[in-house]
Amino acid sequence: MTAPRSHRLIPLHDQRTLARASAMALPLAEALPLARPLQDRLARPLRDLRISVTDRCNFRCSYCMPKEVFDKDYLYLPQSALLSFEEIERVARQFVGLGVEKIRLTGGEPLLRKNIERLIAQLAQLRTPDGRALDLTLTTNGSLLRKKAQALREAGLQRITVSLDGLDDQVFKRMNDVDFPVADVLDGIEAAKAAGLGPIKVNMVVQRGVNDHEIIPMARHFRGSGVVLRFIEYMDVGATNGWRMDQVLPSAQVIERLQSVFALAPLQAFAPGETAQRWTYLDAAGRPDPAAGEIGVISSVTQAFCADCNRARLSTEGQLYLCLFASQGHDLRSLVRSGADDAALAGAIASIWAQRDDRYSMLRAAMGPDTASSGARRVEMSYIGG
Ligand code: SAM
Ligand code: SF4
Ligand code: SF4
Repeated sequence: MTAPRSHRLIPLHDQRTLARASAMALPLAEALPLARPLQDRLARPLRDLRISVTDRCNFRCSYCMPKEVFDKDYLYLPQSALLSFEEIERVARQFVGLGVEKIRLTGGEPLLRKNIERLIAQLAQLRTPDGRALDLTLTTNGSLLRKKAQALREAGLQRITVSLDGLDDQVFKRMNDVDFPVADVLDGIEAAKAAGLGPIKVNMVVQRGVNDHEIIPMARHFRGSGVVLRFIEYMDVGATNGWRMDQVLPSAQVIERLQSVFALAPLQAFAPGETAQRWTYLDAAGRPDPAAGEIGVISSVTQAFCADCNRARLSTEGQLYLCLFASQGHDLRSLVRSGADDAALAGAIASIWAQRDDRYSMLRAAMGPDTASSGARRVEMSYIGG
């Protein structure tokens, strides 16, 4: 009998690191307010926390959860393994105390998590040490957005990112692999606008030969709509999507194609650690045209942005990952469930962050793309969140 496929695909977590981190926890937690701000080994602060609230999804995007792997026998995490909303809020509160200013809920498909608006309401109450509200956002495939947009806004969500890989139904349905129509995602985006969620961003993962002919139609559609469109390079994340470098369309070529149709000029980055390179549309006089808006590219493969990477990721079951390409996490759930108090929890997180030296994209760029698919089995995007 063949064993069912399961989240054994997901690597096991490094208990040694946790033990080390926990042992260091209290002194660090106490020392932090007096010492320099928390930084990792490459002097990167902790600013951004991405929380995966479910490892399940109603799409089967071939680049993320290919049907052949995520089939009816795939074993998702049991309910008892998931962090509860109370546990997520408590962990998130420690991260905010350590410098996090932005929280993104993701997954899997975050809108599949029952009563997600209750978690949003809890997170919306969090304040930075100097009393500011968080930048709270969520990434969704948009399939349930029409139904949920208003409730999300009322719960305190400020803005939202919707993934959409093309406007052509045939292309999009082939990519989501569950026959989901473009029109329903566009309806979701309209509902988000009507609910006052903004700015709305739309992420399009570009795969050469699959949907790259949708770049210009997507740009035309969203230009002047108030929605910020961003093209993402297809990444070698996880171990199941069969990634190949020749399927990546470098962002530089995306921009070239856009510039053959539209007048564009680069914009300055808002903040260090920003993942997108932003471009503004120009008017006939060559001046930035605010009515047309902006567009962006995320060059995760061709232009490493590890040097400024201030992002931590919390998996659905409470494992802390320091890089999207990590193969091991740090088990915060055990610590939470062991009865550790807030200071111990914050101290453990601080210790883990202080030891971080992850810079996968930078190393891949230095060693060449062929190194990308080798090495330890990496965690799946649907488990850790994008
Ligand atoms: N289900 C939600 C969605 O699709 O928006 C949230 C989770 S999804 C993992 C987060 C983001 O990661 C999406 O914008 C998705 O397109 C992107 N993504 C997934 N796999 C990717 C890959 N291999 N390369 C680049 N982006 C990817
Ligand atoms: Fe689901 Fe998002 Fe992954 Fe697509 S990218 S399979 S919608 S989690
Ligand atoms: Fe950050 Fe890792 Fe991506 Fe580099 S490869 S930008 S360290 S998540």
